Amino acid sequence: MINSSLKQFGQMLAKKEISSVEMTQTFLNRIQQYNPSINAFITLDADKTLAQAKLADARIAAGTAAPLTGIPIAQKDIFCAKGWRTTCGSKMLETFKAPYDAHVISQFDAEGAVNLGKTNMDEFAMGSSNETSFFGGVKNPWDFDRVPGGSSGGSAAAVAARLCAAATGTDTGGSIRQPASLCGFTGLKPTYGLVSRYGMIAFASSLDQAGPMAKSAEDCALMLDVMAGFDERDSTSLNRPKELYTRDLNMALKGLRIGLPREYFSEGLDANVAKVIEAAIAEYKKLGAEIVDISLPNSQLSIPVYYVLAPAEASSNLSRYDGVRYGHRAAQYDDLMDMYMKSRAEGFGAEVKRRILIGTYVLSAGYYDAYYLKAQQIRRLIADDFVQAFKKCDIIMGPTAPSTAFKAGEKADDPVAMYLQDVYTIATNLAGLPGMSIPAGFSNGLPVGLQIMGNYFDEARMLGVAHAYQQVTDWHQKAPEGIL
Ligand code: GLN
Repeated sequence: MINSSLKQFGQMLAKKEISSVEMTQTFLNRIQQYNPSINAFITLDADKTLAQAKLADARIAAGTAAPLTGIPIAQKDIFCAKGWRTTCGSKMLETFKAPYDAHVISQFDAEGAVNLGKTNMDEFAMGSSNETSFFGGVKNPWDFDRVPGGSSGGSAAAVAARLCAAATGTDTGGSIRQPASLCGFTGLKPTYGLVSRYGMIAFASSLDQAGPMAKSAEDCALMLDVMAGFDERDSTSLNRPKELYTRDLNMALKGLRIGLPREYFSEGLDANVAKVIEAAIAEYKKLGAEIVDISLPNSQLSIPVYYVLAPAEASSNLSRYDGVRYGHRAAQYDDLMDMYMKSRAEGFGAEVKRRILIGTYVLSAGYYDAYYLKAQQIRRLIADDFVQAFKKCDIIMGPTAPSTAFKAGEKADDPVAMYLQDVYTIATNLAGLPGMSIPAGFSNGLPVGLQIMGNYFDEARMLGVAHAYQQVTDWHQKAPEGIL
């Protein structure tokens, strides 16, 4: 059962082959069995979870079920969920209980989906390996010595190890797609503004976007149907008509122009990963797609630009954690300033402090023009590259990450090596474009993800393009042995 698609889960519930309570209990049992070693979940609350499942069963019995009613979904611990501890992976919020629901959480609630628990993540979503979490690292279910990627590492491991039916994540520079690549499943970062950030703990507000993490494109489409939509509580939420993201799942690929950015296939890409990506592209050719050579000339600037802008925004967003209103407060201090300093020194981990330092520096009066403003200008050039590229192609493809899952600890002392994990994903965040990663094969037994990037609001087509591939391959159905 645990390997089923969301549609199949829904059918089982509709036909009363299983109740939501039973389905939920099956996943809770798996979590109990595997979470002590994988560490995918930070907070579990079986009573709350099962109460939701009971409500879902009543709704199913009443004949008013929605597509995801009764299905257990894991939620990244960056989303405030009323009454649930919401930590964002930080000691700063170790005991914080959210007093309200994030938009994403209330959307799943309205759907009647079951909240299975809150998943582990890099502290304040800063990282590419889940190693910056205050609650410890997460194991990659394919190889327990390796990282699951980050920052949505807990959701990633939970999907890969089949500890949930699907999960949510957030992606500021790659945090849905890179873990999807490293753990072998399908993840989508929507167009900026498509999913409300209300109640989603802020890292870099102009880049943060929530999205689905699931086994297949079809599952992601069903999740996005629930997550997307206008919300007046987020001023960057876009007011556009609600779409059905499953609508293009059966599209034909004949004549589809796939752009391959030269810069994504050069130095820095692991040779075995490149082979897997080339094989996937060959499969698309067989399906009738045309391959177009494109260039994203400023893409090599996306990492430096991101590591000016994201820390700048983070340093501002994280100033709210002062030990006064909520969050960690030092036990002993001399005066107000000392309380701020001790509370923040104790509450934040090393990577978060590094970002606050960089962010404060690039925003300071003497350096603002040289760094922050310059980075904003280059951000525009990076976005313009895509505008030019989409004149020549409909979809862009390339690798999601430069390598497969790396060993825990391997890059922990080298921030720049860690930052390079997102070399292929960050540009889309800077441009506000949607991107996804789908399983495309293996290199030395470890999953490799193919990245699919689309134009603004082209999620339905991207999902259709991914689905077509998943109809003729079965990479997305592979799960780590020994865990099923
Ligand atoms: N790895 C990137 C960072 O550390 C991206 C994280 C994210 O997308 N949340 O900032």
